Amino acid sequence: MATDDYHKILLDESEMPTQWYNIVPDLPEPPPPALHPGTHEPAGPDDFAPLFPMELIMQEVSQEQYIDIPGEVLDVLKLWRPSPLFRARRLEKLLDTPAKIFYKYEGVSPAGSHKPNTSVPQAYYNAQAGVKKLTTETGAGQWGSALAFACAQYGIECEVWQVAASYRQKPYRKTMMEVWGATVHPSPSEVTEFGKSLLAQDPDHPGSLGIAISEAVGEAAPHEDVRYALGSVLNHVLMHQTIIGEEALLQLAKVGETPDVLVGCTGGGSNFGGLSFPFLREKMKGNMDPTIRCVEPAACPTLTKGEYRYDFGDTAGMTPLMKMHTLGHSFIPDAIHAGGLRYHGMAPLVSHIYELGLVEAISVGQTECFTSALQFARSEGIVPAPEPTHAIAAAIREAEACKETGEEKVILTALCGHGHLDLAAYEQFLSGEMVDFDLSEDAIAEAMASVPVIA
Ligand SMILES: *Cc1c(COP(=O)(O)O)cnc(C)c1O
Repeated sequence: MATDDYHKILLDESEMPTQWYNIVPDLPEPPPPALHPGTHEPAGPDDFAPLFPMELIMQEVSQEQYIDIPGEVLDVLKLWRPSPLFRARRLEKLLDTPAKIFYKYEGVSPAGSHKPNTSVPQAYYNAQAGVKKLTTETGAGQWGSALAFACAQYGIECEVWQVAASYRQKPYRKTMMEVWGATVHPSPSEVTEFGKSLLAQDPDHPGSLGIAISEAVGEAAPHEDVRYALGSVLNHVLMHQTIIGEEALLQLAKVGETPDVLVGCTGGGSNFGGLSFPFLREKMKGNMDPTIRCVEPAACPTLTKGEYRYDFGDTAGMTPLMKMHTLGHSFIPDAIHAGGLRYHGMAPLVSHIYELGLVEAISVGQTECFTSALQFARSEGIVPAPEPTHAIAAAIREAEACKETGEEKVILTALCGHGHLDLAAYEQFLSGEMVDFDLSEDAIAEAMASVPVIA
């Protein structure tokens, strides 16, 4: 591409990366190990075996820099990959900025987000291991629908616990999961003991991701042919998402650009890790020097206000303990927060590289996010999912700073999903009902009190 008037940069199927990148062996210090929830000793592969097939467990603890993507996984990914990289020229013009803004669009997948990049290999490895059914949790429904789609590809069943508040507010995601053949329960549910105990205390319990994880894990662990799938947080999930960053590297190279700033929204950390880790590799090699920044909601500020310590991944305390930035596993996000990204913890790998000072983090309030989303939608056309509005807000802050200084920075972000099934959040914003909400120190202290003390 010799000209400078391109709008999107595409790759041929033949140029699609065929390996995932594992950042762990390239880090200056290894990340702390997961611990057994009972003994607090480092967890071995056997501790994960009731939950995941061995192939994924080996990826979770792998020291290999690259792992081949199986052909049968590539075949499914090719339904929508390689995904386009856009130059946001119309947004740049609206902002009157000298900055160049690029966004990698993951909303082209069947589920409308980046999540099928990992649901597909997870369903594949489980099917290979003879697993008949996968269980999982879902918040807004993005992950549940991504897993339902993937299970349909490999002929296995899918059972989903959806956080009750979203189950009631987002009926279309539930229908989408059912179209792909999944069974969906509101969480807390009547089908698990833990769910029943919570409903006994509060029949209208709004639920949380941590509770839904406890229910899905509790259903998978005792059964030989049922396993559990997690849509974010874990090392293997972030690794599966690195196809985003590997493609973006190739695409930027086609137009001779390297990023000065990379911003990504962080809920559990998977789209951020997926986009940023290949760029961090190049940065550590000295090939480029982008500032890499996580962007999280002010209502769920795990990196900027949470503590870095061992905590459970779920509310009931059944998962291995992971060292991560956490708001406490008993954290229940406030219902007025519409912007997604509500998990109490942050991926151990993202937490670790943040502690090492390799990446920065900021939090943004939801009204700024939706103001930015409208600017984006009205110029670039795509209606963003609530989660990437955080990244868009951060990209716009950068672009506006460039307008002040006259710097022509190259800004890269991921538009990790579209918002077609999240229009209720836009409705709230457009009608003036959306308010900003900072998580109070008291609420954090209360949830942190439940975090185990590790000797
Ligand atoms: C699930 C989801 C997220 C949050 O998860 P990460 O692991 O932080 O990426 C962000 N954006 C979209 C569109 C999602 O579906």
